[in-house]
Amino acid sequence: MSVSAPRHVRVLIIGSGPAGYTAGVYASRAMLNPVLVQGIEPGGQLTTTTEVENWPGDTEVQGPDLMVRMEAHARAMGCEIVSDIITSLDLSSRPFTATADSGAVYKADAVILATGARAKWLGLPSEQKFRGFGVSACATCDGFFYRGQEIVVVGGGNTAVEEALFLTNFASKVTLVHRREELRAEKILQERLLKHPKITPLWFHEIDEVIGAADPLGVEGVRVRDVRTGAITEIPAKGVFVAIGHAPASELVKDQLELHNGGYVKVKAGSTETSIPGVFAAGDLTDHKYRQAVTSAGMGCMAALDAEHWLAAQEALAPAMA
Ligand code: FAD
Ligand code: NAP
Repeated sequence: MSVSAPRHVRVLIIGSGPAGYTAGVYASRAMLNPVLVQGIEPGGQLTTTTEVENWPGDTEVQGPDLMVRMEAHARAMGCEIVSDIITSLDLSSRPFTATADSGAVYKADAVILATGARAKWLGLPSEQKFRGFGVSACATCDGFFYRGQEIVVVGGGNTAVEEALFLTNFASKVTLVHRREELRAEKILQERLLKHPKITPLWFHEIDEVIGAADPLGVEGVRVRDVRTGAITEIPAKGVFVAIGHAPASELVKDQLELHNGGYVKVKAGSTETSIPGVFAAGDLTDHKYRQAVTSAGMGCMAALDAEHWLAAQEALAPAMA
């Protein structure tokens, strides 16, 4: 990596999910010439799903298609979109300094953080061992490999239920392993799951170990534990899809900004202002409650408007302070 001469930008947007692209649309229309750095997952979490049925204006849209449209929209408004990853961010002096994986260095008057969230893992050594060899957190990406096979999905939220339903397109049988008897998923999804002939829920169970062969490396099943009795049983499966939620991607700022609820960036109520003036946060990175595409996009809009007002106030103050 070679380090380039720093480039000054008025607004740097970090992240390319619904929050980042919406911030890009609004900041461009405010003539702030924003630069948006996409990160390792251009388009964010919705690129890992299929049908999205709750994006207003589209009864049904494919997640990846929606994100391609959002990117095109931000570009059309004048947002510069860069394929890179921000590896460090220094918020201790102004302008803020962001360094990217390519070596590019940005000096930004204002920063909009929209780094979203990433899949959580169970934390079992056997899960780690078989990741990419039968253990996955993305049914859309990997479901195709399990045609005619038995599959286990872990979790009880919207993601787990949607993944289980999607996997019935390939699998001969899907077992949904959930630690309680009640699902967290929306009622409409629960209904679809419970009446699906290929899906069997296994209530009150947790994964104890993923089991499989060493050569070639591959999953053969899971050992599950009944949380009420401790009894252990085995379920045969070639694929294990872990869908137990997401954790905020706040590593860049964890020692610099106030966080809450396990790493979510804290923002002032009704705003996207963080604990450092000039740094704004939007989307799943800040939101432990709603975590939807539409709320993330809404917060992206708020962040761009907040940045615009904050920059205008700084500029109005500057001559008086000179
Ligand atoms: P994300 O979409 O998480 O995007 C984060 C972005 O930040 C990514 O582009 C990533 O590359 C970037 N990034 C991270 N770190 C860096 C870095 N260091 N440098 C640069 N960039 C970085 N919501 C709905 O409303 N409807 C649905 O049907 C729906 N289905 C879903 C299905 C699945 C399988 C999942 C996982 C989620 C689903 N959601 C759905 C939730 C929705 O996807 C999220 O609420 C939304 O994507 C959050 O948007 P975001 O912009 O905050 O962040
Ligand atoms: P979630 O709603 O946080 O649900 C996580 C599930 O995993 C819960 O059922 C939880 O069990 C279980 N779980 C957590 N840790 C576990 C562990 N260590 N072992 C076993 N089980 C564990 O996460 P999500 O389903 O990924 O959804 C995240 C957000 O994205 C939500 O806001 C959701 O609405 C949104 N989303 C929306 C859609 C949609 O609108 N169609 C689709 C996907 C996601 P408990 O229930 O017992 O806590």
